[in-house]
Amino acid sequence: MIAYLERFVPENDSDPVPQDDDNDHHRHDNVLPDSLELHGSAVDLGASAASIASRDFGGMASVQPLALIRPAGADDIARTVRAASATAHLTVAARGNGHSINGQAMADMGLVIDMRCLDPGFFELASGGPCSPPSVVVSGGALWEEVLDWCLKHGLSPRSFTDYLGLTVGGTLSNAGVSGQAFLYGPQSSNVTELEVVTGRGQVVVCSEDENSELFFGALGGLGQFGIITKARILLQPAPDMVRWIRLVYTEFAQFTRDAELLVTLSDGDSFGYLEGFVFVNGDDPANGWPTVPLTLDQTFDPTRLPGTSGSVLYCLELGLNFQAGDRLSEVDSVARRFLGRLRYVEGLEFHADVSYSDFLLRVKRVEQHAKATGIWDAPHPWLNLFVSKASIADFDRMVFKGILKDGIGGPMLVYPLLRSRWDKRSSMILPESGGEIFYIIALLRFTMPYQKGPPAEKMVSQNHEILRTCNQNGLDYKLYLPHYKLQEDWRRHFGDKWAKFVERKSKFDPMAILAPGQKIFPRSS
Ligand code: FAD
Repeated sequence: MIAYLERFVPENDSDPVPQDDDNDHHRHDNVLPDSLELHGSAVDLGASAASIASRDFGGMASVQPLALIRPAGADDIARTVRAASATAHLTVAARGNGHSINGQAMADMGLVIDMRCLDPGFFELASGGPCSPPSVVVSGGALWEEVLDWCLKHGLSPRSFTDYLGLTVGGTLSNAGVSGQAFLYGPQSSNVTELEVVTGRGQVVVCSEDENSELFFGALGGLGQFGIITKARILLQPAPDMVRWIRLVYTEFAQFTRDAELLVTLSDGDSFGYLEGFVFVNGDDPANGWPTVPLTLDQTFDPTRLPGTSGSVLYCLELGLNFQAGDRLSEVDSVARRFLGRLRYVEGLEFHADVSYSDFLLRVKRVEQHAKATGIWDAPHPWLNLFVSKASIADFDRMVFKGILKDGIGGPMLVYPLLRSRWDKRSSMILPESGGEIFYIIALLRFTMPYQKGPPAEKMVSQNHEILRTCNQNGLDYKLYLPHYKLQEDWRRHFGDKWAKFVERKSKFDPMAILAPGQKIFPRSS
């Protein structure tokens, strides 16, 4: 079968979303290359395909592609890249599930590859041995929730997740993939041992730590710049049945960070399986305040427990203790008590719920269902994610959480520690410069009603700029996670010492800068 290529005519472009930039170069001479003969399955999508490829979760960028391609396999992707390289200008963007914020998976009059079509349902289990853990090879277009579902049927689970599992394997590996397991196992990108990648030269290459290692480490956290991940081998472990989900409230940032750091630095096997934290407003606002803390409908937040000295914002440590359905609850209680006994949260402001492992991992899916019903899911999401060094985190709290964001953002403000040693230095991921073992992830996940019921997106974007300006002016040591820059100069600064390596890998694996143009790092060359 010949691949189905949906060409977008200007009449389809009725998108009201403001343009990310005014770059409309060479629109006039873009045509599909004659050489593009693929073997994908025919799907008649028409205008809906245009709408898919020109939108993302951020809802603030929109550019029209020339075509959306639904590949039947890695070979189709390789042919697409080779065909693009035979033209003077075409680019190719892999689109995972389009959950980027700033158009990173788009291609302005280029070819967008719908990774969700690639090898759906492909899973190949390697059961492991005495010295090697089990692993599974999955499609780069698989969603993490599909991977979890498949693994649980075999009593297994990936070790490291994202909070939300409606993201693709290739999409998160191209960034890092961080959640509450990362302090133990590192990000998702530290939990893959082999990739199959289509490079910008249109070659299908298998790579690992030992084989084509430059491509392997380049692709991990590589923002899609060196190749399109078509398969990944993911490390697994036996899946627990249950999680004791715990939330503890703190009034003082110093105590919150002290306890969080204590828990992430306990040795393996003697700690929780999950640790995150968030900041919330000291008030009864349903989206930002006390009501965001209890875990079940029958739990309430009793503000009379708070000391009179409490400030405008409070902190919540969120923990997960894995256990098996057959374990006696009294044993689970005593393990939890042993850990919690060392911590200095506000007495009476602790919450817990025992939930199944899959319900725990799919917890944000319920948020998605609710947000879709209220229109919040489809409103713009000017999210901001940062890694901040331990040395700068108290200043960040004082200037940003207690200052700029003291009234909240209408969604979670995550802050929790991670360990540098769990991240592979050889990969493309960028962490804060000061080399201490502990650094923090900050995720400002704005969920607001569409304007005019909620604030205009521009106002939230300008608040993000204010936060970054504050960090820069006060010399805070940070790096953007899921970075977004428009100028190469900013990218150069972002990569710092690793820029030269990044450029070298680009010239080796994608010398014409065909791939992932939506990141705006390298201009297409002929
Ligand atoms: P896309 O947005 O489609 O693509 C992202 C980039 O990767 C693009 O440049 C694209 O071209 C490239 N790309 C896509 N697929 C491939 C591939 N197979 N090979 C090479 N390049 C590829 N991140 C976290 O770390 N932790 C979280 O807890 C977390 N939670 C999130 C919750 C929500 C609701 C949302 C919307 C995002 C969240 N993210 C989180 C961010 C997420 O990791 C990124 O959006 C990431 O880009 C994955 O999304 P995606 O699969 O839709 O990729």
